[in-house]
Amino acid sequence: MASSTTPGCPSDQPLTEAERSAAEAARGFMPPDEGLALAAAAALADLSLGPMLEIGGYCGKSACYLGPVAGRADTVLFSVDHHRGSEENQPGWEWHDPDLVDPDLGLMDTLPEFRRTIHEAGLESVVIPIVGESVTVARHWTTPLSLLFIDGGHGVEPASNDYEWWMPHVAPGGLLVIHDVFPDPADGGRPPYENIYLPALASGRFQQRSVTGSLRVLQHY
Ligand code: SAH
Ligand code: MG
Repeated sequence: MASSTTPGCPSDQPLTEAERSAAEAARGFMPPDEGLALAAAAALADLSLGPMLEIGGYCGKSACYLGPVAGRADTVLFSVDHHRGSEENQPGWEWHDPDLVDPDLGLMDTLPEFRRTIHEAGLESVVIPIVGESVTVARHWTTPLSLLFIDGGHGVEPASNDYEWWMPHVAPGGLLVIHDVFPDPADGGRPPYENIYLPALASGRFQQRSVTGSLRVLQHY
């Protein structure tokens, strides 16, 4: 992997204490060790290749891990999410949070919490939300990415779509980071493993760089 050219941003300590606490305090689905591995991947990436992009912003937690590294390198993180929640975030599902429902519409809306998180972390100039369906955004996307983080819908269809539509935008030398990869079905759902991770390795275009919990960091040759 290209070594970091970001001043003050070593990959073994990619965040300051304050950045780390802000990320840990944010609402979301990213255990601290995996979040740090995400930040470390960003610190090792060659950020001169292009901006970073994540699919699945939710309430801004993963953006709090990636954003500070992007800011130090004078680049940005685009955060794609329709902010209506994945299937598993809907009422009646395990990962539903009733605070995140727009009471007038009766629909999930994570955008206000996302904006609050990013504001409080001082990342508004660095983390740029794109509110929309992942595939629709991908169809119009043309900029090569230094780092693509896939953490969107975890059903077979959204996971396959995210891989198929976004993978071509990772720049040669860039990183593809995938969350919630569970080789053992006892640990969690299959699609990120079967429909993103395995196809990426089978494509022959990516080499695995690190494994931390359910986070996988791959590099485009
Ligand atoms: N990265 C976040 C967690 C993401 S949860 C964290 O660190 O906490 C998954 C998110 O993906 C949800 O907010 C959901 O709205 C979004 N999502 C699911 N399917 C999507 C799709 N097809 N297009 C855009 N966003 C989607
Ligand atoms: Mg996740």
